[in-house]
Amino acid sequence: MNEQSEPNAPLLAGVIGFPIGHSRSPRLHGYWLNHYGLKGYYNPMSVRPADLAEVLRALPKLGFRGVNVTIPHKIAALQLADTVTDRASLIGAANTLTFKPDGSFRADNTDGYGFIQNLRQAAPNWNPKLGASLVIGAGGASRAVVAALLGEGAPKILLSNRTRQRAEMLTEDFGGRVEVIDWNRIADAMEGATTIVNATSMGMVNQPELPFSVAAAPQGALVTDLVYTPMETPLLAAARARGLQVVDGLGMLLHQGVPGFENWFGQRPEVDDALRAHMLD
Ligand code: NAP
Repeated sequence: MNEQSEPNAPLLAGVIGFPIGHSRSPRLHGYWLNHYGLKGYYNPMSVRPADLAEVLRALPKLGFRGVNVTIPHKIAALQLADTVTDRASLIGAANTLTFKPDGSFRADNTDGYGFIQNLRQAAPNWNPKLGASLVIGAGGASRAVVAALLGEGAPKILLSNRTRQRAEMLTEDFGGRVEVIDWNRIADAMEGATTIVNATSMGMVNQPELPFSVAAAPQGALVTDLVYTPMETPLLAAARARGLQVVDGLGMLLHQGVPGFENWFGQRPEVDDALRAHMLD
């Protein structure tokens, strides 16, 4: 929207990435637009990094309310933003931009929110305050997960990454409650963890599996995977076979889209079984 925007013009939003063809966001937002009968469009847009700043200046003039940004624009979008939410600043990357009437924009990161909402919906009894969380991986998604778990009052986070230095950098940003665990000590660290999160791409189709067992995880532990292709990753299958609580990663993708959709289209959307089925169709 801009100051001269036409009343009753269709509401516009979309997702910017490069490449963009694989993005599931158009399917997600398209479902909600249709479900709520809204007069709006959500467009996939392939934008090269060199063109990002110009495109973000132009989109509000074209009537866009906001956009999601994905690889490789998540850090650049944060740097270009006029205002940044606390959580995006903490994570160091943006995924949701909302344009203001004057063409300026606010950058937010809703991945951590999506992560928490998914667990709350799928495992209502889950309480991150009850024990340590083990987070495997130290990439962008891990930063969102660590920030969110700390925000929810997790007393301790055991963090492990193949490249240890990357995990150590993350602890510098997030402070005392995060402890780096050596990659080959993950199986032992499970013993004290009540929440176990795979935030690497391991276990994804065509990727190697995580190289350790969940045998030491305590009964009652919750195991979740950010990978959702396949929905039942080898980690989740092993955890389920042990009788642990298991939550797949699709819900995180769906919940992270909620704040953006509400900002742009004025309707808070629901994440339910019908939406999950639509995404898997
Ligand atoms: P990223 O920044 O590229 O980080 C990748 C992570 O995976 C790093 O910790 C990396 O370790 C680790 N890794 C990759 N290959 C590995 C291997 N062969 N052995 C050991 N570790 C390996 O990616 P990201 O953005 O954090 O995303 C991580 C995963 O989460 C992806 O599968 C992504 O699709 C998924 N994700 C899901 C959602 C959702 O909504 N469900 C949201 C965001 C991300 P090194 O540092 O050692 O390379």
